[in-house]
Amino acid sequence: METLVIRRPDDFHVHLREGEMLRRVLPFTAQVFERALVMPNLTKPLISTYKVKEYFRELDRYCEKQGFKDFRALRTLYLTDKTLVGNIAWSQVWENVLAAKLYPKGTTTGSAQGVLDVERLGPVFAEMEKRGIVLSIHAEMPEMHSDYAEDEFLIGPFWWIYQNFPRLKIVWEHVTTAYMVKLLERYPARVAGTITAHHLWLTRDDVFSNPHNYCKPPAKSKEDMVALINAVTSGNPKFFFGSDSAPHWKWQKERAKAKAGVFSAPVVMPLLAQIFEAVGALHRLEDFTSRFGAEFYGLPLNTGKLVLEKRPWKVPLAYTRDLDGEAIEPIVPFLAGETLDWQIVL
Ligand SMILES: [Zn+2]
Repeated sequence: METLVIRRPDDFHVHLREGEMLRRVLPFTAQVFERALVMPNLTKPLISTYKVKEYFRELDRYCEKQGFKDFRALRTLYLTDKTLVGNIAWSQVWENVLAAKLYPKGTTTGSAQGVLDVERLGPVFAEMEKRGIVLSIHAEMPEMHSDYAEDEFLIGPFWWIYQNFPRLKIVWEHVTTAYMVKLLERYPARVAGTITAHHLWLTRDDVFSNPHNYCKPPAKSKEDMVALINAVTSGNPKFFFGSDSAPHWKWQKERAKAKAGVFSAPVVMPLLAQIFEAVGALHRLEDFTSRFGAEFYGLPLNTGKLVLEKRPWKVPLAYTRDLDGEAIEPIVPFLAGETLDWQIVL
């Protein structure tokens, strides 16, 4: 049997949610990844050092209880129009926050308190630049058609930030178009992008037929998908892995006004192996998942290993029980019911 052993991966963009959902989905990330950059768009967003502290204490407690001693949750802060320089400084000093997340107001789940006017945050970006805190951007322009929302944001608010803060490190989260790939390649190394597994697999037709494939920003055309696959298998360190795994309960996805978010954590590594193998680039997988992101964030490389086996694996239709076997509200994973070529050996 074919096995693949790689350096333990990092997920540089994941939503672990809070409360019961956090408890339920944490194992899918903590069993596979050594580190994950956890996003701050909760029902009460992580807008202050205190909120960051409270949330990550809860997360670390679950990790300990569930026995994930080697997993490390990397901290983020949520930017609002009211974020102050002090929020940046203290969140780094006290909570070791690595990145601050910019959600343009009203663009995705949990962005209601997001930023309306980036130019008002000038002093905040200056402080981040000084302290080496990464600016992580959900690069969509509010109230724009989703086909153009990213491009609009990049030529508008992003460009202003980029020009005014020449040493600020910036990540375009979940790059979804061929145009963004081309554009990103032209920026210096301090601007990088995460790419999800599901954007390497879906086109917009797949979103129309299945609400579990619906996320923000949504999957685009076949040409866009191919450009993303080329980018992640190119060996260019500007592209690294962030799953954007974003769980919702089944009932929140299978209704009118379905929530945006693809719960991909259980399948991302087998799926990536399958995609990289299909284009003859399996040897590039480790750099994409376990090197480029860590180097961008200035973190040491992980020392653990992850083993994958080439053996068909049918993705469960839903997860309905927690680790103790207790019944829970069902959560439907990405590619539910489909069979993948690879599986993780735990
Ligand atoms: Zn996200």
